[in-house]
Amino acid sequence: MKNSNCIFCKIANGEIPSSTIYEDEDFRVFLDLGPAAKGHALIVPKEHYANIYELDDALCSRIFVLAKKLAVHMTEILHCDGFNIMQNNGAVAGQTVFHFHLHLIPRYKGDTAGICWNPGTADAEGLRRLAEELRV
Ligand code: 5GP
Ligand code: ZN
Repeated sequence: MKNSNCIFCKIANGEIPSSTIYEDEDFRVFLDLGPAAKGHALIVPKEHYANIYELDDALCSRIFVLAKKLAVHMTEILHCDGFNIMQNNGAVAGQTVFHFHLHLIPRYKGDTAGICWNPGTADAEGLRRLAEELRV
């Protein structure tokens, strides 16, 4: 299913041009317009899923295999020093485009990408209880 109001549906399906580095039947991978670092790319399914909660399981299982393949390939070409792979769900988590996408962000020593969080604190008992609550 495509969403006619969604910019990533249009890019993924070729209605809007993009700097594509990979394409197959289900995905397009293109360079981010506001790169955190040189080579920042997005893996985008051609079908519309707003976020990971909606994402089709079969596509989900293929995405990380594709991410690994591209991370290896991009690292060889860009000679980056590290790599972030990240994915935001919901505005509170930093999602700004509500069509599922996985960020591939090459990292370079001294770059200004600044992808981080402030570590909090936790006590052992609190962690034990929470783990119990969350155990699948
Ligand atoms: P989010 O914040 O939703 O995780 O990430 C959205 C990303 O999409 C941002 O990094 C932003 O720069 C990128 N982006 C937004 N609109 C466009 C666009 O029209 N073309 C491209 N190539 N990237 C876009
Ligand atoms: Zn879409």
